[in-house]
Amino acid sequence: MSNEKANVVIVGGGVFGNSIAYHYAKNNPGKKIIVLERNELCNAATSRAAAMITKIRAKKEFIPLAKQTYTAIAEMETLLGESLDIKTVGIMHIAASETKVSDLEELVKTASKFGERWEYISAEKAEQMAPWLNASTSLKIAYMPDEAYCDPYLLGTFYARTAKLLGADIRQGVEVTDILMDGDTATGVVTTDGIIDADVVIIAAGAWAPILAKKAGINLALAPVRSQYWITERNEIFPESMPMVVLPDVNAYLRPEGGALLFGIRERQSIAVSPNDIPNDISSFKFSDDKGMNDLSEVIDRLAAFFPRVYDIGLKYYIAGFSAYTPDNYLSMGSTTKKNNILFATGCVGAGIAVCGGVGLAFAEMAAGKPNPYDFSAFDIHRFGDIDPFSEEWLQKCAIARSVKNSG
Ligand SMILES: Cc1cc2nc3c(=O)[nH]c(=O)nc-3n(C[C@H](O)[C@H](O)[C@H](O)COP(=O)(O)OP(=O)(O)OC[C@H]3O[C@@H](n4cnc5c(N)ncnc54)[C@H](O)[C@@H]3O)c2cc1C
Repeated sequence: MSNEKANVVIVGGGVFGNSIAYHYAKNNPGKKIIVLERNELCNAATSRAAAMITKIRAKKEFIPLAKQTYTAIAEMETLLGESLDIKTVGIMHIAASETKVSDLEELVKTASKFGERWEYISAEKAEQMAPWLNASTSLKIAYMPDEAYCDPYLLGTFYARTAKLLGADIRQGVEVTDILMDGDTATGVVTTDGIIDADVVIIAAGAWAPILAKKAGINLALAPVRSQYWITERNEIFPESMPMVVLPDVNAYLRPEGGALLFGIRERQSIAVSPNDIPNDISSFKFSDDKGMNDLSEVIDRLAAFFPRVYDIGLKYYIAGFSAYTPDNYLSMGSTTKKNNILFATGCVGAGIAVCGGVGLAFAEMAAGKPNPYDFSAFDIHRFGDIDPFSEEWLQKCAIARSVKNSG
């Protein structure tokens, strides 16, 4: 019996895999694309995200990708005749030290350059908009009204549903166990359901991507690093319409969550784990015995300067997950000069919900043999040289990168 054949096979049904499927199916009618997800769609990093779809960032290379996310959402809403109900509440960046003020001045220049609206606002105005906030120590506050957050599971499954509507084949409960290689050329995948030959194989396997890359002979430059956040109990000081807030002086971000407050911090000591040590089903992984309380206690006094109620407000939920980090906090993705017909949609550096639209379009175009519409030179998977993604030294480098990451 001959093998099943596809034009494109995608390994991983998170937000990246599904976004690629949507963009490819839309732009290449009649071509066969298959997404293979071993669990349920969006079960891993995607469903755990705080899902801030931040467009205006210090890393300018991410901005066009994030803009495409908003474009894709609008297109999918039309196609499905449903609203994704994204919450366009805007974002406030609050600088309370001279260094952060100059970073903020750069950021607003970037916003203007990319045609995004922003304004400086007073501490009083900021406190009015976010009643939980004490902005008295702030030196400068910029408000960007067009930034949004969303439900990340819904976004990931919107991509999958529209992709399916346009002809993509989305399979759950199918694991890819090997990459078929003919010399230096990928020719398909081995799965728990049999072999699929493919013209192009795309690895979008999140934290586990280095395992599959290794099977294809590539040392993929990323490491799974834990991210964590908390959700408070509901309180009237957290109106649903309040803007998101970034506090670079504290390394914290905060946003409304159904009448409560969701907030995350960059801890001093981030935790990286070898891809081999993460179970296939992430829900069985124990992230933190103390629900991140040690990490939170390190920053709580500094956070309380802006959010005084943090000491006594009840914390209802603790969420943790793995994002794929790199030492320079730039994405690790694209093609490789070392192998043919295999692409890596990986290394999300905790920004995958924001950039998923551009990532989807880029890989859809590359898989169709067309030029990548974006400049991916900063994301080159070989830029760190010959690394061992499973070594302790590499894991530590990537963990440190998250600890020093500033915002977004
Ligand atoms: C706590 C937290 C907060 C975050 N907040 C934000 C935020 O505010 N904004 C933002 O932009 N991003 C945020 N992120 C990052 C965002 O969640 C990720 O960047 C994004 O979800 C990455 O998507 P992905 O498709 O690459 O990975 P995943 O969603 O992890 O998907 C990978 C999939 O591949 C599957 N897979 C792996 N190996 C195989 C195999 N061999 N065969 C078949 N399937 C396989 C897995 O089961 C999984 O479903 C956050 C992440 C976390 C953990």
